[in-house]
Amino acid sequence: ELPLSQAARSAAALRSSNIDASISSIVANYSNVWSPSSWQSKPMKQNVTYDNQKAVEKALQKLESLPPLVTPSEIVKLRNSLKEVALGKAFLLQGGDCAELFDYCSDGPIDSKIKLLLQMSLVLIWGGNIPVVRIARMAGQFAKPRSSMTEVVDGKEIPSFRGDNINGFDPADRTPNPERLVTAYFHSAATLNYVRAQLASGFADLHRPFEWTLNHVQNDQTKQLYQKIVDSITETIRFMTTIGADRAHSLGTVDLYTSHEGLHLEYEQSLTRSLKDPVDGKNKWFNTSAHFIWIGDRTRQLDGSHVEYFRGIENPIGIKVGPTMKNDELVALLDIVNPSKEIGKVTLITRYGKDKIHDLLPGHIKGIQGSGHVVIWQCDPMHGNTHSSTIGVKTRQFSSIMAELSAAHAIHKEHGTHLGGVHLELTGDAVTECVGGSECLTDEDLSLNYTTYCDPRLNNKQALEAAFLIAGWYRE
Ligand code: PEP
Ligand code: MN
Repeated sequence: ELPLSQAARSAAALRSSNIDASISSIVANYSNVWSPSSWQSKPMKQNVTYDNQKAVEKALQKLESLPPLVTPSEIVKLRNSLKEVALGKAFLLQGGDCAELFDYCSDGPIDSKIKLLLQMSLVLIWGGNIPVVRIARMAGQFAKPRSSMTEVVDGKEIPSFRGDNINGFDPADRTPNPERLVTAYFHSAATLNYVRAQLASGFADLHRPFEWTLNHVQNDQTKQLYQKIVDSITETIRFMTTIGADRAHSLGTVDLYTSHEGLHLEYEQSLTRSLKDPVDGKNKWFNTSAHFIWIGDRTRQLDGSHVEYFRGIENPIGIKVGPTMKNDELVALLDIVNPSKEIGKVTLITRYGKDKIHDLLPGHIKGIQGSGHVVIWQCDPMHGNTHSSTIGVKTRQFSSIMAELSAAHAIHKEHGTHLGGVHLELTGDAVTECVGGSECLTDEDLSLNYTTYCDPRLNNKQALEAAFLIAGWYRE
C-alpha cells in the first residue's frame, strides 16, 4: 500500500463523507406519499420510447381493466414463507430463463421447467432437511435491461432486442410496440393457468415416479454419489407412503410462485391494485403481475424510478447486488424499500463473479449486520461469470458457477449469516449454452443446441447437478 499524503487523505475523507451526506439526504428526502405512478417523477434508467403515445395509453388502459394474475392471499403466503427463509428455517430456489419468449408458452417447455424445479427442490430438501420455497422466473420474465441500446447486425446499427414485451428478436421488428404489453399479459396468464392446472392435477405428486436419468454422468464416482441421493429420496417417499404419513401431509401438490424483473414500470403500474390484505382486511397496493418481482442491477439507483415504485408494494421483492454496490448504499436502499424492517421482505440477490465475491460479500454482510435488517441472502452465480467462448457466443463455465455458490455458502457461514437461496438461469430442455458439468460440454459443443435469446442457461442436467452439489454441502 502506498503512503497517502495528507492532502490526498483529506480529499479521500471528504469524498467519502460527501457520498455519505448525499446518501443520507436522498433517504431523508423520500416522501411519505407514494402512489403506483409516483415513480414517474423520478429519473428512469432503461426507459422505452414509443413513437405512438395514443397506442401506449390504449394498451395500458386495457391492462388496467384485466383481472389480477395473482392474489393478495398468495402473495402474503409467499411473504410468510420467505420470513422462514430469512430466519434459516427454509431455503429459496428461484430459476428460469434469462429472457422468457412468448414462444415458450407451450406445454412442453413449461412441463420440463416445472419438473426440473420440482426435482431440484426435492434434492435440496433432502440435503438441507428444511422446506424449499420455489419461485419460477416465469409467466412474465419478458423485459430485459441491456448494457447497449443498439447493436450492429449485418453491418447495420439497429435497436437491441429488449425482450418480447417490448420489441421482437427479428432485426426487422426492433421498434418498441406497446401492443406487446397486452400480449405479454395474456402469455403470462396462459402460462400461469397451465402451471396451476398441472399442479392441481397431480403433476407434482410424489407418488408419481420421477425419471432421474443419470446416464450422462461421465465420472463413475460422481454418478454413484448422485445415485445414492436419488435412492435415498425414493426410499423415503416409499416409506412415508407405507406408513401413511403421506396422507396426513399431502404429498400431492406443492406451491410454485412466479417472478420476473420489474423493469417495465408502466406495465407494473397497470397491474398494481389496491386490494384487501387477507391478514388485517385493509386495502393495500399489491403488484398482481407476479408473486415476487426484483430490481435489476442496472436500475437500482437510490433516487431512481424503480426504487420509488418498489418501495410502495406489498409483495416480497428482490434486489440484484452487483460489484458496484457500496456498503452504505445497500443499507440505504433497504431503509428506503423496507423502512419497517420486516424480516424476509427483501431478498438480496448477490451476483459478483467467482473472484470478486471474496472481496465484496463480507463488506455487504457486515454493513447489514449493524443495520437491523434481516434479509434473505440469495446467490445468483450466473451474471458475474459470463464470458465469450472460443466460438464467439456468450457462455458460462459450470465450475465458475459452482465456485461462486460455494464461496457464498462458506462466506456466510464464516460471518454468522447463511446462504438462504440460489437464483439460477436454467431451462428444462437439453440446451448447450453453459460449458462443463458432468456431461463435460466444451466450447465446440455450444453450437449443438444454443437457443437462448439472451444469457446462457444451465440445461436440465447441469441444473440438477447444481442441486446435487449444493445438497451435498449440507450433508457433509
Ligand atoms: C438477469 O437476471 O437476467 C439480469 C439482467 O441480471 P442483473 O440485473 O443482475 O444484471
Ligand atoms: Mn440474465
